[in-house]
Amino acid sequence: MNNALTFALSIGLTLSSISGFCQSNDARVLIIGIDGLRPDCLEAAETPAIDGLIADGIFSPDALNNDITYSGPGWSAMICGVWSGSHGVTSNNFVGSNFEDFPSFMHRLELENSSLNTYSICHWAPINDYILSEDVDEALNVSSDAAVRDAAQAILQDGNPHAMFLHFDDVDINGHGYGFDAGVPQYINAVEATDNFVADVISTLTNRPNYATENWLVLLSTDHGGLGYNHGGTSIEEETIFFIASGASVPTELIVKDTLEIQSPPVNCVAPGAAELNFEGNGDAVHIEDAPALQLGADQDFTLEVRIRTQATPDVAIVGNKDWNSGLNPGFVFSFEYPNGPAWKVNIGDGNNRADANGLSGVADGQWHTLSCSFDRDGMMRLYTDGVFSAEEDISGIGTIDVGNGWFFGSDIFGAYSYSGAIAEVRFWHGLLTEETLLDWHCSSLTAAHPNWTSLQGHWALTEGAGTEVSNSASTGLVGTVQGANWQQPESLITFDYSNTPRIVDIAATALDHMCLNLEPSWNLDGISWIDGCTSTDVQRISREEWKTALFPNPGAEDFQITGIPPHATIEVFQPNGASIHHAQPGTSTRINPHTSSKGVYLIRIVDGERQRTLRWIRQ
Ligand SMILES: [Zn+2]
Repeated sequence: MNNALTFALSIGLTLSSISGFCQSNDARVLIIGIDGLRPDCLEAAETPAIDGLIADGIFSPDALNNDITYSGPGWSAMICGVWSGSHGVTSNNFVGSNFEDFPSFMHRLELENSSLNTYSICHWAPINDYILSEDVDEALNVSSDAAVRDAAQAILQDGNPHAMFLHFDDVDINGHGYGFDAGVPQYINAVEATDNFVADVISTLTNRPNYATENWLVLLSTDHGGLGYNHGGTSIEEETIFFIASGASVPTELIVKDTLEIQSPPVNCVAPGAAELNFEGNGDAVHIEDAPALQLGADQDFTLEVRIRTQATPDVAIVGNKDWNSGLNPGFVFSFEYPNGPAWKVNIGDGNNRADANGLSGVADGQWHTLSCSFDRDGMMRLYTDGVFSAEEDISGIGTIDVGNGWFFGSDIFGAYSYSGAIAEVRFWHGLLTEETLLDWHCSSLTAAHPNWTSLQGHWALTEGAGTEVSNSASTGLVGTVQGANWQQPESLITFDYSNTPRIVDIAATALDHMCLNLEPSWNLDGISWIDGCTSTDVQRISREEWKTALFPNPGAEDFQITGIPPHATIEVFQPNGASIHHAQPGTSTRINPHTSSKGVYLIRIVDGERQRTLRWIRQ
C-alpha cells in the first residue's frame, strides 16, 4: 500500500466516523418481491427466514397497495415509487407506461453512479421486459423460483452487487390455483417454500466476506394480496401488503394500522373499548361496605354523579343508601319518577320528612347519560341531567340520612328495586359542585385538573372488566363488591385507519434513501422513506400525512415514545379493559410511562381539537 492511498484511506475513515453510519458509501440494497403474498398468510405460515428479517428491522403487516392490485401496476409502483397515475401502467400488458418520466429506482441509481453493479432476477418476465431490463447491468428472466434463488446466490457469492431485485412467483401461482387464504395448504406451502429460498439467499448474503462492512438493507414486500382465486379489486384482502425493511442500520419497529372503535349504538361518555358493568335486575348490585367516609349526617353537603345506560324507567334504586320501600325512609336514592318514568328523580328522607325532585326525561334511550345532584343540606338539592340544571327542591328540613348499611349501586339496601342497564363513573364529592363544573366534566375522565379534586370522596369508574371488586380511585378505601352484575364489552364497530402505514411506493423511496440518493422533489415520488437514510430532503415536506404519528417501541415494555403529536394535543392511555390509566398533559414529554405491569393491548387516544385517533400499544 503506498503512502498516498494510506492517507486517502485514513481521511475516508475519519470522515465516515464523523458523519455516522448512514453516510457509509458502501450502502447496498436487496429487494425481494414475493408475488401475491397476503400478510395474514405470511403470519400463518412457518417462515423463519422472513421472521429473522422482521426481527432486525421495520415490519408492517398493514402496508397497502391501494391502487390497482394487478402485478403490472403493482411492481411498477414498487420499483418506480409512484402510483399508476404517474407510471401509467394499469394492467399486465403495460400499455400506457411512462417510465421515461418516472423511471425505476435502479435507473436513478445507475444515473447517479454507473459503477454500481445492479441486477434483476425475475420469475415473471414482464418486470424485466417492461421496467428493468434497460436499467440494470444484468437482467435475468428465469422459469422457476428455485432458479431465482440459484442466480441470486451465484451473484452474491462471486460478484460485487450493490443493488439487486428478486421476484418470486410461486405464491401467486398457488393462490390462483388453490385460493389466497391461510386455510389453503398449497398456498401456505408455497409461502414456506419461498421462505426457504429467502433463507438460502440471506445466508449467502451474510456469508459474503465483507458483509460486516457492507451496509446492506433488505427490503421485502409483495405487489398485492388476493381474494378467493384472484386479485385486481379494491378489497382490503387484495390491497393489504406487507413491508419489511431490515438491516443493521434499521431500528426494530412494528407498524400497524390504527384501530378506531366506534360504539354502536353511538354512546356518549365512554372510553374506547371500556368494559361495562351490566345490571339485570334480580338484586344485581355493587355494595360499598359502610365506612366513616360514607357518613353524611344531617349537615354534610355533598354531590353525587352517576352515568347510566338503560332502556327503561321503572321505579328502581340506581344508587342510594336507603330502604326504597318508602320515600320517607332515611337515606337518599337516584331513581325514576313513580311508577314508570319517564323522568329520572332523586329522593331524600330522614324517617319523618321527605323531599323529591324530577330530572329530565329521555335518559332511557340506550345511550350513556350522566345524572348529578348536589345536596345543600340547609338549602336546595339541585338535579343536573348531562350537566345541565334540571330541577331543585328544598331539603333544609331533612335531618340525618345515615342508615348504616353502606351504599348500593343497582338496588336498594335490601336487594330490592333492582335496576336494569349499565352503571359507570359514580363520583361522590363533599361540597357542592357548580353547574359549570358538572357540565365541563360530565363526559370527561376524572383527573387532578378537576376544580373540586381535593373534595373527591369516592370515584368508582366501574370499568374493571372482570372480577368482583370495583376500585375507588379516590384513595378513601371503599372498595365495592359486585353482587351478580356482569361485565360486558360494549358492542362496538371497529374500523381501521391505515394512514400511518407504509405504501408499496415507499419501497423505491426507501431503497434510494438508503443508497444515499437525495429524494429530489422534482422526481415527484409518491413514496416516502421509512429509514434514516442520508437524503437531505426534508422528509416532513414529502410526508403524505400532515399528522404522522409514530409510537415506539411497539411492542414494548415499561414505556413508549410518541412522535408527531401536535403541540396542543392530549394523550390518554387505556388499559386492555378500557380503564383510563394515564393522562399526558399538553407540552409534557412524549415519552410515556403508564406505570403498568399488565401485558396486553393498550389503547392510546390522542385528541387534538376535533381530530382524534387511537393507536395500539402492545405491552410485552
Ligand atoms: Zn396474480
